[in-house]
Amino acid sequence: MSTPNLSFTNRYAAQLPADPETGSKRRQIQQACYSRVNPTRVRAPQLLAHSAELAAQLDLSPEFCASQPFAEVFTGNRLLAGMDPHATCYGGHQFGNWAGQLGDGRAINLGEIRNTAGEHWMLQLKGAGPTPYSRTADGLAVLRSSVREFLCSEAMYHLGVPTTRALSLALTGEQVLRDMLYDGNAAHEPGAVVCRAAPSFTRFGHFELLASRQEEALLRQFMDVTIRNDFPELVKNRATQELDRDTHLAWFHQVCQRTLEMVVHWQRVGFVHGVMNTDNMSILGLTIDYGPYGWLEDYDPNWTPNTTDAANRRYRFGQQAAIAQWNLLQLANAIFPIVQDANALEAELTGFAAGYERLWQQTHADKLGLQNFDANADATLLTDLEVLLQQRETDMTLFYRQLAEIDISNTQDQRAVLAPAYYASPENAAKADAQQASLARWLDQYLQRLRQDGQDQNQRRAAMNSVNPLYVLRNYLAQVAIDKAEQGDFSGITELLDIVRQPYREQAQYAHAAQLRPDWARTRVGCSMLSCSS
Ligand code: AMP
Ligand code: MG
Repeated sequence: MSTPNLSFTNRYAAQLPADPETGSKRRQIQQACYSRVNPTRVRAPQLLAHSAELAAQLDLSPEFCASQPFAEVFTGNRLLAGMDPHATCYGGHQFGNWAGQLGDGRAINLGEIRNTAGEHWMLQLKGAGPTPYSRTADGLAVLRSSVREFLCSEAMYHLGVPTTRALSLALTGEQVLRDMLYDGNAAHEPGAVVCRAAPSFTRFGHFELLASRQEEALLRQFMDVTIRNDFPELVKNRATQELDRDTHLAWFHQVCQRTLEMVVHWQRVGFVHGVMNTDNMSILGLTIDYGPYGWLEDYDPNWTPNTTDAANRRYRFGQQAAIAQWNLLQLANAIFPIVQDANALEAELTGFAAGYERLWQQTHADKLGLQNFDANADATLLTDLEVLLQQRETDMTLFYRQLAEIDISNTQDQRAVLAPAYYASPENAAKADAQQASLARWLDQYLQRLRQDGQDQNQRRAAMNSVNPLYVLRNYLAQVAIDKAEQGDFSGITELLDIVRQPYREQAQYAHAAQLRPDWARTRVGCSMLSCSS
């Protein structure tokens, strides 16, 4: 087995100023964008799972992936020629408040490669030991949160949601102390490292920190490097690579557009990020930092999986678009000193709301199997559905799959088609009676609209089933796999990875993964309640 011959380009490190100090001593840095720091050696790297598709895309051979050196490299024990490990510096607004310098506290970029297809990918270890930005924490990650990050990254990718990727999940052979619920009951948990990959890990918070320090020359340089490397299509003058104000504005427009598309995808599949702080917002509009995220089971726009957010529910499902817009406002404030055009930035933010509404309506029409969104006819169809889904505890994922089975040519009562989507608590049974009449009315309205739309039944079902997943990473499914993994049985992780690789196609052997959440999982920690402790 030969070590892979990757071509490292390391543009971020090469094009931006480094902190002159190296190593992990905690510090604030000035006039610099990153610090060189090596991963900490670990005792016994053990690969638990990897994404074969991503490995292939990164030009890593199956033989290398199956070898111990792969586990050594992607836990940080061994560096490949050309790697230049570093942690980047950023700030951020956490839960609405400016938090100052944060940075990669437990992420270390190994280096950026250029693959044979010409794509750039940054390889990043999460949980590989302390960096200058670890503040009071240890730079490590535990198995449960690493399983969640690994599986969800790949699940989102296969769902077609813009996301950072996960190459590998490995145990370190070390124990890590964590107080999972922040209630004074700390315990040792198995340590783990995930290797993530993305074209870039740049966050809104990178720009905010430079702006807050009034390092304007560096802020401009950072913007220009970001645009040239991550948005090369926006560079008008290829020869000089000069960027003017129009290009800066076009770039902000792109960031707004990609962010709104990302959030529409989240709403489409029922994903709640859980901690949309500005340091967790990717400049490329990728879903990033899988922490206390969750998947809607019963449809509830007020739901947040994050116990740290339980009081205000800032990051609840129904508020994700508004928070994204607020985060973009913080980015606009950060780049204002360079762009100097408040009206243009404001226009983009206003455009975000309108653009979001348009794309969501079209996406919602797709979810309902309508070929076009008809503003007059469909606005009430959508708002009535929003009410209907909350009148009675309804599984969002199963509801849309069952809806595809509603038959246009059938003039009988079809309410029973939706029965598999309803939770059967005693409380819900009472609500069911009350909902029957409005459900019948809505189905009539829906059928009428489908007939007007005129699409053939089979085509409509196929179209709906290509945007409404059958398999999502249900919170309890991930937790069951984690429970088994903590006992040394990793089969649940590989099985879930296999399930989420084909989220839209029915897989008979995985019927158990497309069912209502069992009752025991309703209130269990890790299934419905998650903290930031990871
Ligand atoms: P998060 O809420 O996970 O996005 O993290 C917010 C900040 O805390 C980031 O700067 C992280 O790098 C840092 N952080 C989170 N967990 C740890 C940890 N175990 N060790 C060091 N830094 C951490
Ligand atoms: Mg983060």
